[in-house]
Amino acid sequence: MDETQELEAKYFMRTFARVPVTFVRGLGTRLWDAEGKEYLDFVSGWAVDSLGHCHPAVVAAVTEQVGTLIQVSNSYYTVPQVKLAELLVAHSALDRVFFCNSGAEANEGAAKLARRYGERHLKGAFEIVTTLGSFHGRTLMMVAATGQQHHQQPYAPLPNGFVNVAFNDVDAIRAATTERTCAVMLEPIQGEGGVNVPDAGYLRAVREWCDARGILLVLDEIQTGFGRCGSLFAYEQFGVTPDIMTLAKGIASGLPIGAFMATERVSVFQPGEHGSTFGGNPVTCAAALATVSYILEHDVVRHASEMGDYLVQGLAKLQAEFPVVVEVRGRGLLLAVAFNAEIGQAVLDGCLARGLLVNRVSPNAIRLMPPLTVTREEIDEALTTLEAVLTVTAP
Ligand code: PLP
Repeated sequence: MDETQELEAKYFMRTFARVPVTFVRGLGTRLWDAEGKEYLDFVSGWAVDSLGHCHPAVVAAVTEQVGTLIQVSNSYYTVPQVKLAELLVAHSALDRVFFCNSGAEANEGAAKLARRYGERHLKGAFEIVTTLGSFHGRTLMMVAATGQQHHQQPYAPLPNGFVNVAFNDVDAIRAATTERTCAVMLEPIQGEGGVNVPDAGYLRAVREWCDARGILLVLDEIQTGFGRCGSLFAYEQFGVTPDIMTLAKGIASGLPIGAFMATERVSVFQPGEHGSTFGGNPVTCAAALATVSYILEHDVVRHASEMGDYLVQGLAKLQAEFPVVVEVRGRGLLLAVAFNAEIGQAVLDGCLARGLLVNRVSPNAIRLMPPLTVTREEIDEALTTLEAVLTVTAP
């Protein structure tokens, strides 16, 4: 334990099961710890550092904005948030946006908007159908939305109004829909639940069901959005568009910002019905504007898609070499490698010792989510490390 880790153990609430490394510097796909050891980062701040660490375009935009205007109240207009809103609307299927500070807060806002819509247009319907294995955030309401027992059980009683049903099962959604239902809320691909990709027709069938019942489809693209899955938004790959979409994580390459967007028809909030002190802050919006502009102008989504294919090919070779690897799943640069034994932690530890960061998404799977700007050479390096680790870890 270094001094930072000792102080953390003394002063912090015990919420994080941290990996024992203290990072002091990052650049691109690389990180350095307090001892100067270099790491290849295939976690990227939990699918956040889209352009890698300290990308020059983001650093320049933030530096400029910090020296110009840091914060005013949302009672006034500021330029970066309006420019960002214009860009998001131009490149998505949604018409209006609200900025907040995190993913959970974006989903809270989306749930409030869905209830407001239900109150106005669906005779007071308020219930939201979500899926088992989902993850929507840590606020009490989003814990109720998140269909995972271990996140819910310690906090009972949970807020009313959420029904959790099986993922990838449109009949389960149909069966759970009543006159109280105002919306269905889903991740297009479940991230925290283990990188679960639904069958090809699932999202389209859910969209059709929502349309038939006049209820809303809310897509949580907090982890899957902004090129992570090889398209700007994951919904593009499933042939649907949402009524409400939530965003956070990769949108500002590391600065804390969230957003929810809606179509014109669904944007029913009136002045004073929702708000945020920091949401739409000029500095975080400048970082998001720089990130999104760079992604669009440099075709980063196509690059991410190609790098995702390249990484999957390499992982498939490892699967052929090591019988312990039973599945490679995901889209773009949101990938999981599943094992037939509970070696996720051992693989993480082996990678860490060799300078590669991966995430253990479940006892028998690791998740890879490098920056969207990752190169072929960096992928080769990660694959070589994984091969070395599997050689000594595979039972
Ligand atoms: N929704 C999804 C799909 C997520 O993956 C996460 C975080 O992992 C969240 C919501 C919550 O985001 P935040 O931690 O910024 O509140």
